Amino acid sequence: MTAYLIRNVRVLDGEPTDLLVRDGVVAEVGGGLTAGDATVLDATGLVALPGLVDLHTHLREPGREDAETVESGSRAAALGGYTAVCAMANTSPVADTAGVVEQVWRLGREAGLVDVQPIGAVTVGLAGERLAELGAMADSAARVRIFSDDGHCVADPRLMRRALEYVKAFDGVIAQHAEEPRLTEGAQMHEGEVSTRLGLTGWPAVAEEAIIARDVLLAEHVGSRLHVCHVSTAGSVEVLRQAKARGVRVTAEVTPHHLLLTDERAETYDPVFKVNPPLRTATDVAALRAALAEGVIDVIATDHAPHAVEDKECEWAYARPGMLGLETALSIALDVFGPQWDLIAERMSRAPARIAGLTGQGVDPAPGAPANLTLVDPAARRVIEPAELASRSRNTPYARMTLPGRIVATFLRGEPTVLDGKAVK
Ligand SMILES: [Zn+2]
Repeated sequence: MTAYLIRNVRVLDGEPTDLLVRDGVVAEVGGGLTAGDATVLDATGLVALPGLVDLHTHLREPGREDAETVESGSRAAALGGYTAVCAMANTSPVADTAGVVEQVWRLGREAGLVDVQPIGAVTVGLAGERLAELGAMADSAARVRIFSDDGHCVADPRLMRRALEYVKAFDGVIAQHAEEPRLTEGAQMHEGEVSTRLGLTGWPAVAEEAIIARDVLLAEHVGSRLHVCHVSTAGSVEVLRQAKARGVRVTAEVTPHHLLLTDERAETYDPVFKVNPPLRTATDVAALRAALAEGVIDVIATDHAPHAVEDKECEWAYARPGMLGLETALSIALDVFGPQWDLIAERMSRAPARIAGLTGQGVDPAPGAPANLTLVDPAARRVIEPAELASRSRNTPYARMTLPGRIVATFLRGEPTVLDGKAVK
């Protein structure tokens, strides 16, 4: 195992120092360390962050390997500065048994680029009718702790209650895609002025807010952990604020695209901007940014949703919802919040690692810490070229935009997965 001496790097907001990475851990931190047999990396101007952790990634394998594989998605993640991702269960077959979650987990280990932590489905086949084998998935080699029917809402309140009760025994968490399906039938975009003007069926904010309100009450009643996926409205923020003030065990995430883009993008009729939940208004974006800064929203999660060309480059009404996110998330965070490194580390690494229970992830670089870390050049700017992305899909909403920040290197347990901005394998 090669040792690395990272010279002249700032750890978060600190002064430049040296980091010695050896045997999978940060062995030493301090000025003027001697290299010995270590490979020296000059990191002048770079910032070291704990490796990013994504709570919400769609890797598409098994079933849609034309859109993404565990390996290609892992490589995209590493290039985005991630050292761990949680893989959503809406694969084909659905990850609703110990067999499928173990398959995804094993593929992640074989790729060896990030830790791939499978999320298990809440209900069999994501059909919302009966509970999947949550206990068997928790006891499997994949040690599943997060369960989600993401893509679908667990709409039946009785099932949601039972799922919350079930996972309480092993301190699991139910991650809800909050969408009251009866209120979003046929929806194509956010319900508001723009949808009226375009004549497209709207997805009203209240369809999200109603489910979050119900679920925080259920989680409070059961005393169990709820996580809310991709919060997108100002009203949802208020529901979460009240629930947290009462001490409900609820956490929440927001996506980079909901922090940056608005429903006016639909005016282009470019399906790359079609996503679920939909892009909302500038008022919602402002509320989400404030909630993230305050901690009412705990996490930035990508909802990386690769889609094959035929599922995306078609008429708006027929296009699948979803956008790529792994390779651009840190740049969006920098664009929106500036170089607030402690905030970025908390929302993109420490908090998601805590929620997912990933020991060894989300730990700031310090002596003895597992060497899961990423080096960022905050001064760099880059133009996003879809053809250059490592993902198998091309559906980035940031095509040809110039964004701040570049991931220079990523280390997984002391081994580089990215060096000089390029994937090592
Ligand atoms: Zn979702």
